[in-house]
Parts: sequence; C-alpha cells; structure tokens
Amino acid sequence: MEFFSTTKTLGILGGGQLGKMLLYTTRKWDIKTKVLDPSENAPARLASDHFVQGELTDFQTVYDFGKNVDVLTIEIEKVNVEALEKLESEGVKVYPQPKVLRTIQNKCLQKRFYKENNIPTAAFEEYESLDLVKEAIIKGEQSFPFVWKSAEMGYDGYGVSIIRSNKEIEDLNGGPCLIEELVPFEKELSVIVCRRPEGETVHYPVVESEFHPTANQVEYVLCPAQLSSADAKKAVEVALQTSKAYGQIGLLAVELFLTPEGDVLVNEVAPRPHNSGHYSIEASYTCQFEQHIRAVLDLPLGKTGSKTAAVMVNLVGKAGHTGPVVYKNIDQVLAIEGVTPHIYGKKETRPFRKMGHVTIIHPKIETARKMAEQVKETLSVISK
Ligand code: ADP
Repeated sequence: MEFFSTTKTLGILGGGQLGKMLLYTTRKWDIKTKVLDPSENAPARLASDHFVQGELTDFQTVYDFGKNVDVLTIEIEKVNVEALEKLESEGVKVYPQPKVLRTIQNKCLQKRFYKENNIPTAAFEEYESLDLVKEAIIKGEQSFPFVWKSAEMGYDGYGVSIIRSNKEIEDLNGGPCLIEELVPFEKELSVIVCRRPEGETVHYPVVESEFHPTANQVEYVLCPAQLSSADAKKAVEVALQTSKAYGQIGLLAVELFLTPEGDVLVNEVAPRPHNSGHYSIEASYTCQFEQHIRAVLDLPLGKTGSKTAAVMVNLVGKAGHTGPVVYKNIDQVLAIEGVTPHIYGKKETRPFRKMGHVTIIHPKIETARKMAEQVKETLSVISK
C-alpha cells in the first residue's frame, strides 16, 4: 500500500506527546494522518492533516473515526477495543492488534498471559475486590509488604501502590486488583522491540530508568543501561520472548526488573512509543517513532543502534504550580552543547504532569548523566 504523497491515511488514536512525535515522521514523509483526541488543544493536533475531537473509549466515536482510514494505530492503550475489533473484522488494519490491547488493558489478564507463556514475572494473586484482599490478610494468606495494582485503571503509577500496613489499604479503590510480590530490584530496565506484519523483528539497546524518589515517575533514562553484557543479553532475550508471544505489530516497550540474583522479570509492556525510547530521536539511527510508522505501514525496519550515549530527563510540572506554563531557564539549557529540549505543547502545567523532556547526548554516558542533573536543576516547569 502506497502512503507516500497519496490520499491513503494513517489514523492515530490519541493526540498527546507520543502522537505528536509520531507525526514528525509522517510530516517528513508526506504521509496523510488523522488524529482522535478528547482535548481540543491536543499536542498532536497541529501536525495532523485531520483532527477529530472525541472520546477514545467511546465505541461509536472510535468506530466512526476508524472506518475511513487505511491503517489505524494508537499512542495510548486506553481505547475502545470492541470498536477496534469490529474495524479489524471489516478489513481495517489495526496495529497493534485489538487482541493485544485487550490483554494489556487489564493488568490481571496481562499477568496471566505471562504465566501461560512461561515469561518470567513477579509472583501474583488476582482478587475480585479489595475486601477479598483484606480477608486474605486476616486469614494469613497474604502478608505485607506487597504491591497493589488496580486491574483496570492505572497510568504512570496512579493505579499502583506499595502497601506495608493495614492502614495503607484504606486509601485504595475497592475494585478488582492484582497483589504482587514486592521485587527488591537492582534496576528497572526497558527494551523496545518492533515487529513488522510478516514477523521481521528488531530491538533497541537495553536502557535503564531512574525513578523520582517520591513521585513514582521516571526521572532519567540512560542508554545504554549500565549492566554486564550477560545481564543485557538476558534482558533482550526476555523482551524478544515477550514480543514473540504477543505477536504485536509495531512497537512493544517491555519494562523489566533486574533482581539482585540477576534474574530478569517482566513488569509490564506498552504496545506503542514509550517514554524510555525518547532518547532515540537524537541518539539512534532510527528513532522509535519512525520505527513504529515503518512497522505499521509494513515498510523495511530501520537500524536500532545508537550513534552516541544518551540520557533523557523528563520535564514534569513543579509541585505547587498549576496554571499557564512557563519553561524557566530554557535558554540556559539550550546553550549547553548536546542538549535538546522537547516541549509537548500542553498549555497548562500541574504538579508532576509530563510537559516535555530533554535529551542529552555525549560520547560518555557518565558525562551525559552528570549533565542531565545539571539540566534538571536549571530548567523548571512552573506556572505564570
Ligand atoms: P503503571 O502502569 O502505572 O506504569 P507499573 O506496573 O509500571 O505501573 O508500576 C509503576 C512502578 O511501581 C514501577 O515502575 C516500579 O517502580 C514499581 N513497581 C511495580 N511493580 C512492582 C513490584 N512488583 N515490585 C517492586 N516495585 C514495583
């Protein structure tokens, strides 16, 4: 199917920053796009050919949106899967496939999938309600500490809590959930895999994420991860095994824990561009966004190696600031060699809202990591 300078259209569900960055490639290649997002000021709106404002979880909205596109993809998993299944049955190419999204949308189904496919993952129990978790604690079947995960909600850690006492349980929502063993991991790793419809598969180098101590959000991503080559090899093997089991078309970001014993466990996956791959815009031969477009349009996949080491810093709204956004000291950051800020275009900041990111490239990862800290201390996202 010919998408270059034709009327063939790629539809994207979701118009946030990931959608916006996917559109850098469609602009570069003159590929026509149509984007659906609930917000009239969605970051991806400007670079799309057609923008539709509407709910991503509404059957009719998604179905009507997808009816006239040639290939449909996503930049967020929380979309109406029934509509995607109907579109797929009517001949629209939906990548990632609806069946993959159905498994991933529910954390219980996702964990069951790993167990069934012999993919290493932390031990877990499923519960229909929080009351049943409390009962299990009273009966001595469940003990502290553990990780509670809401089956269906969840984004950026909001549906996830580490629970150490009865008191902490009271703040959780009461619905179906997953209780997972607390993994005392050494590192959080991620490997982005990409598959084309016929199965051709490539993967990016292993990266490592450093978390903000209180916000439970990724603060820095380092590429390459600082690991032994044996651990890196293991991480890649587990990621490839996971992607093969899903058989997804397009990207699959596989989030992993490296345990003190040197085991690699799958935490969760995302079948779309991922925060841990943002560094690839500046540092890789083919960035994750272009790679995803290549895969879903069934084009040859690009080289995934890095031209240089890189560290990515997430720019999140500063605590205590809500309102029209200001990027304080961005000029100072721009003056540093090898530093590229990305501003997503969200007009309003809120504490810890993802507003942009900065990539630092340097031949030495240790130097890039130090520069990242300097960037973090200099640039702040505040309100007017
Ligand atoms: P979300 O879907 O909100 O991103 P995750 O399942 O990725 O949620 O969990 C968010 C973070 O919580 C992880 O990146 C990790 O730091 C921590 N976490 C999740 N599961 C575990 C676990 N079993 N043991 C220890 N920490 C965990």
